[in-house]
Amino acid sequence: MAPVCIVKPAPNDWDGRSALALVAHIAERHHDTQRAELERLRELFVALDRVAPPSISFTIRTELALLEDAARAHLATTTLLFPYVVALEANERAPSLQPSDVARLLQRLHGEHERLRAIVGCVRRVTLDCLSLDTASSLLARTLDAALAGFEHGARDHADLERVVLVPRVLSLDPSVERDTTPVMLPVRRREVVSATGRHEALSVFCPSERRSFTPEWCSTCPLVREVNESSVRCTPPAIVPSRSVTLPRRTGEDLCVGEALGQHHVSVGLDVTAKAVADALGKHGDAVAVVVDETGHFAGTIDRDLAECAHAGQLAGELRQAGPCIGESAPLADAIACMVKTHQRSLPVVGADGRVLGLLVDIDALHRIVDSKRR
Ligand code: SF4
Repeated sequence: MAPVCIVKPAPNDWDGRSALALVAHIAERHHDTQRAELERLRELFVALDRVAPPSISFTIRTELALLEDAARAHLATTTLLFPYVVALEANERAPSLQPSDVARLLQRLHGEHERLRAIVGCVRRVTLDCLSLDTASSLLARTLDAALAGFEHGARDHADLERVVLVPRVLSLDPSVERDTTPVMLPVRRREVVSATGRHEALSVFCPSERRSFTPEWCSTCPLVREVNESSVRCTPPAIVPSRSVTLPRRTGEDLCVGEALGQHHVSVGLDVTAKAVADALGKHGDAVAVVVDETGHFAGTIDRDLAECAHAGQLAGELRQAGPCIGESAPLADAIACMVKTHQRSLPVVGADGRVLGLLVDIDALHRIVDSKRR
């Protein structure tokens, strides 16, 4: 991947106009319109819900609830951010927000738009399923799809305006959010995913403030990014205040996340991959263990290199896999170490919040991460 230069241009028509005018425009042109559109969508959803089969009805209701929840979350973020920007520009006493709070709000803004977009995409797919039903359902579905297309279009303009104009305005008014913060260099992890039909590489970056992995593409659009290249992401994630327990003695690795300690290369194999292909992939990277995944990318066991090399070449990963525990990427590293000690394993498969495999935590990487954190 070539280095990505992050450009945050501000369209000319907002140059020289106040932050007050900008937030008033966003609130009126986008937030008020979005509220009215959601009201209209709700009416159409209710009408479709009455005539659609129960399975589709259930999905429609769930998606509508998610859409409303995402829109509400976005308004809550801007309720904190907008008064802050306006007060800052007017040199008035701004609501007390730390630079890390502002950075977190900017990051949240970015995630909320993506979430809205993803939910609208899902609802449109469900709606299209209704086109093949009876006339009443398909007529309603067509109207609903047109309304969703309008919502999607408005949401895109809304996201662009906040990303391209509002975020740079906040960063220029409050340099402590970005320029005065020391950027960190986060490694891009590579996972070779082998299936019966071929192989591909999955790239991810663990975000310490969100405590989850993102793709480098996602990071390249994050308001807090400085640079993305093929091996690292340079950015200023908001600081996390470690939680301090007053009753329990602190364990080594308690303040670190499992995701922070994941190494650079991992191998995942599908259930239908042969022992030879597993051994080849492990040999290529010098890895000791491959994580087996099912068709949906969820954890299905592990295979160590000795087993793959000794097995009959045509035996499948589904037959060779060994059961065992896995751990979430946001769990404390101390939990992962405790689990490895208890099960006498030197590695532990790591999964994301959706249960999909992200990599393999190796004891030596966990140790390096702990030593690194003590040096800082
Ligand atoms: S890792 Fe950095 S660039 Fe990526 S989402 Fe987190 S703060 Fe943004």
